[in-house]
Amino acid sequence: MENYDLHTHSKASDGSLTPTELIAYAKHCGTDVLAITDHDITDGLSEAITAANDAEIGFVPGIEISITWAHQTIHMLGLHIDPDNAELQAGIKKIQAYREIRAQRISEKLEKAGIPGALAAAKRLAEGNIISRTHFAHFLVEEGHAKDVKQVFKRFLVRNKPGYVAGEWADLEEAIQWIRAAGGLAVIAHPARYQLSANKMRQMLAIFRDCGGVGIEVVSGSHSASDIQRFTHVAEYFGLYASRGSDYHGKHTAYADPKRLPALPENCRPVWTHSDWYAAR
Ligand code: AMP
Ligand code: MN
Ligand code: MN
Ligand code: MN
Repeated sequence: MENYDLHTHSKASDGSLTPTELIAYAKHCGTDVLAITDHDITDGLSEAITAANDAEIGFVPGIEISITWAHQTIHMLGLHIDPDNAELQAGIKKIQAYREIRAQRISEKLEKAGIPGALAAAKRLAEGNIISRTHFAHFLVEEGHAKDVKQVFKRFLVRNKPGYVAGEWADLEEAIQWIRAAGGLAVIAHPARYQLSANKMRQMLAIFRDCGGVGIEVVSGSHSASDIQRFTHVAEYFGLYASRGSDYHGKHTAYADPKRLPALPENCRPVWTHSDWYAAR
């Protein structure tokens, strides 16, 4: 079976590799078809398309959109999107603007906790691309406030910690609409990571499906073997297609390396068998 990795990050958001480097690494890992899905931005995709052509690897232009639903942050992938679609671009511009405001707020909070200079440092680490909590995390590790990125998130950047700012991201319904307008397939990312009750999860997935969402990540770099089993059943129950993605961000960040990502279980319907998968290209 072909090896699909449909969730990765480049420098355009919080990954550490350029799109070209990421494609070379995916090739080295044995990936046959790669999607780059940066947070709320499509800036890496044109470089990636050229690099993927040169490397003779299958490429899927994607995005990972930040959503707020029931006071929780949910991530939704758009696969096979047209990056030039005006509706999608207008939507993600709003999120990009909010990221600036949130970064300022995170920095103010860290300053109150006795850690000055975070905004300037996060901007330097983001190299002019969008600012994410990952950039703040790297700054805090650099300054010796925690030993690694995982510890920083635990101690600083999550609810009830000094550098936490609640997200105010896109609506679920509007994000699906932007992805569909851009000809893409909407897929719920890493569902096991959300702090939703079983009831809320069902509610969210029902809305998602009713608004035209088609898939859910069953295999993710942040899913355990039992998460994979659970979401295989969830996908089947909701009639959703299954996706597979490492969520690779480069060497020094969390989650599984693409080389160690399990295959989709046999009884899943892969998202790349959806009737719109090829039509979308
Ligand atoms: P943001 O979208 O700016 O809130 O940043 C979210 C990003 O931070 C995620 O996409 C991950 O790359 C990273 N992240 C979130 N939680 C953790 C964690 N517990 N450990 C490591 N990285 C994390
Ligand atoms: Mn990330
Ligand atoms: Mn995510
Ligand atoms: Mn991701």
